[in-house]
Amino acid sequence: MATPFQEERIFQGSPVSRGIAFGPAHVSARGFSAPEVYQIEEHEIEIEASRFDVAIERTKAQLKNLKDRIQSVSSGDEGLVFEAHSMVLDDPSLLKKVRLAIESRRQNAEFSFYAVMQTFLEAMRRAADPYLRERSIDIEDVCQRVLRNFEINPEHLGPDHQHILVTFDLTPSNTATMDRTKLLGFVTEAGSSNSHTAILARALGIPAIVGLDGAILEITALAPTIIDGYSGKFIVYPTEETTQYYLNLSARRKKAREALENLRDQESNTKDGHHITLSANIEFTHELDLVKEHNAEGVGLFRTEFFLLESDQLPDEEAQLEVYRELTVGTRPHLAIIRTLDSGGDKLSAEPLSEPEPNPFLGWRGVRVSLDRPELFKTQLRAILRASTEGKLGMMFPFISGLSEIRQCREMVSQCMDELTKQGIAFDPDIQIGAMIEIPSAALVAREIAREVDFLSLGTNDLIQYTVAVDRVNHRVANLYRSTHPAVIRLIKATVDAAKEAKIWTGVCGEMATDIRLTPLLVGLGIDELSVGPREVPSVRKALLSLDFDQCQELAKEALQLATSQEIYELTLKTAQKDYPDLFADFSGDGISQDQI
Ligand code: PEP
Ligand code: MG
Repeated sequence: MATPFQEERIFQGSPVSRGIAFGPAHVSARGFSAPEVYQIEEHEIEIEASRFDVAIERTKAQLKNLKDRIQSVSSGDEGLVFEAHSMVLDDPSLLKKVRLAIESRRQNAEFSFYAVMQTFLEAMRRAADPYLRERSIDIEDVCQRVLRNFEINPEHLGPDHQHILVTFDLTPSNTATMDRTKLLGFVTEAGSSNSHTAILARALGIPAIVGLDGAILEITALAPTIIDGYSGKFIVYPTEETTQYYLNLSARRKKAREALENLRDQESNTKDGHHITLSANIEFTHELDLVKEHNAEGVGLFRTEFFLLESDQLPDEEAQLEVYRELTVGTRPHLAIIRTLDSGGDKLSAEPLSEPEPNPFLGWRGVRVSLDRPELFKTQLRAILRASTEGKLGMMFPFISGLSEIRQCREMVSQCMDELTKQGIAFDPDIQIGAMIEIPSAALVAREIAREVDFLSLGTNDLIQYTVAVDRVNHRVANLYRSTHPAVIRLIKATVDAAKEAKIWTGVCGEMATDIRLTPLLVGLGIDELSVGPREVPSVRKALLSLDFDQCQELAKEALQLATSQEIYELTLKTAQKDYPDLFADFSGDGISQDQI
């Protein structure tokens, strides 16, 4: 029978990457990574308790040694800090709690110690008193020292199992470098659906939930769990009934995916024959297999800041050329669009050692960095131009706020073209050049920008955050991040109109393009291209095939008259549910997150 602490519990967060995953929790809180965790038998409780005692005694001896050494070389009281550290380890209530944790959780001593300390540390980090908050760093230091002093128990050598990661937050680089063979899914306390971590989770096909406020410390490591990446439910100690429900749901989703695969070779036209280019967003060339598998019509966004995962600097021209060639060849006969470096904000920094900015989302981001570092920019532009002979390649610039930046970018491109010509190196002189429209000011001067580029690509993730002043990664305000806000819709419309006037095309490469509830609205607003994660291509294709262009246009006209995001959302949702009900089969009731409406 389940003990009370093994009773089913359901935590609700925001789903950011679809799918169902079943597996034991691997809990890793803030500050430092969790030690290995394993289950122990009743007869091992005392063994674990004494392993803990030994680690504590060892740490105290080390701290005393450190204090003596420092005091022998200094006349001040610097050594007292180690005495203070040692006092933490004498606290009888701490020792008692760890023993109790070993007994009740039946988990190894180092993990029980870690879990108890995490609760304690979290309380300190959230304390109102700044002195206490600062001291949490000292306590972390002591914790790590104790953890290093545990002797490995040879009976339990590294259970290198598949797991579900439960953690406070993940950086995009953590997400991209996690071992996919062991990671079944992840849940985090922080984060939001538009963070780069969420975008990467979708790219990697890992079910994920974010924004599980305050839940992490309540989840016991190794507890059996289920991630429902459709509704954002995270279930700990699921009952048999719940497990069965999710096994069935998982089977149904698999069948539904297979049905969508049958549409793979159909052109993405609406029922009345209006073509929308359905391309893919990728960040790594290995994703080209998925682009092919789902038959996307090109790559609408290749994010290049992920180069910075491997090194602090962008690779040199030759190394970039190799990647861009692979991209161009792999996307043939379709167009691949490379976005020049978009560092800063919540993304990787091109200069990680520079002073942190107070408002990184309003700071040194995107094209601003490229224009301030002409050598870095030119290296990238030259590599793109050189790869353009291999197929159909385009480039676009992120974080454009107005016309002058586009002009400066074009000037740089011209300079690189001149240099290459002089060097006798081939490139495509007609390479398509586009501007990302992701800042409201750019949308409002889209008319002027459109005259000087070949296409506009709406980066709605940023466009929304800058229009409604909601940080896209802050889950506290995620309910205010509304993609159907009338202001956002009107800015999209202004952009499309400007492009049409200049006889160029407009795409959407933000996550809005992925959201099948919004497809009728985007199509009706006159978007020519939707670029979505490769795994999302089948459902968006199905949506496009089911819609009527004329009706979408009517819908968009009506939407532009509405005053609230809720009304616009309901309008587009109604058409989506009527035209492709199958795609909503498992999203009834509370089954769909409204975070992004
Ligand atoms: C966007 O802002 O919508 C976009 C596509 O760019 P990113 O998400 O990389 O900022
Ligand atoms: Mg952006």
